[in-house]
Amino acid sequence: MVIDKEKIKAGVRLILEGIGEDENREGLLETPDRIARMYEEIFDGMGRDASEPLAKTFSVEKNEMVLEKDITFYSTCEHHFMPFYGKAHVAYLPDGKVVGLSKLARTVEIYARRPQLQEQLTAQIADALMEFLKPQGVMVALEAEHTCMTMRGVKKPGSKTITFAARGTFAENDKLQERFFSLLKQ
Ligand code: ZN
Repeated sequence: MVIDKEKIKAGVRLILEGIGEDENREGLLETPDRIARMYEEIFDGMGRDASEPLAKTFSVEKNEMVLEKDITFYSTCEHHFMPFYGKAHVAYLPDGKVVGLSKLARTVEIYARRPQLQEQLTAQIADALMEFLKPQGVMVALEAEHTCMTMRGVKKPGSKTITFAARGTFAENDKLQERFFSLLKQ
């Protein structure tokens, strides 16, 4: 997916005009171009999936839970186009194969770098792991602050939204879920 920077620039100019700004004011001259380049980066996950980072796997003999916690992520709320950001915690119970730990963070990043809803992002990370890594189960928890809630609207700075997705054995086995939550507290 190649981002069309000219369209973004034209759109930003329209927004500037819409709020009554002068797009030719010195401080704003480069703004459409800056935003277009920034969008190229923060929407880098468009048209991608996690099949690439999750392709290279390693065999394991014992299927013990793998948990990568406190993965920092930044995403964009698709309702307001404002950032939401926080930590992702991703766990899976392997079925004979594991991936490099950095690949879990990379998976989070691919789905975070698009217009998103936190619930949807959580589910997409879990579903991608199930589909491409084929473990026995996956558990994902995301905690995030939404600037569309803290900077406008209800204005509750510091409030956090927490979402979960459980798949496979994690959805069926309460003990496994409990272990996940107790590991998060450590
Ligand atoms: Zn929002």
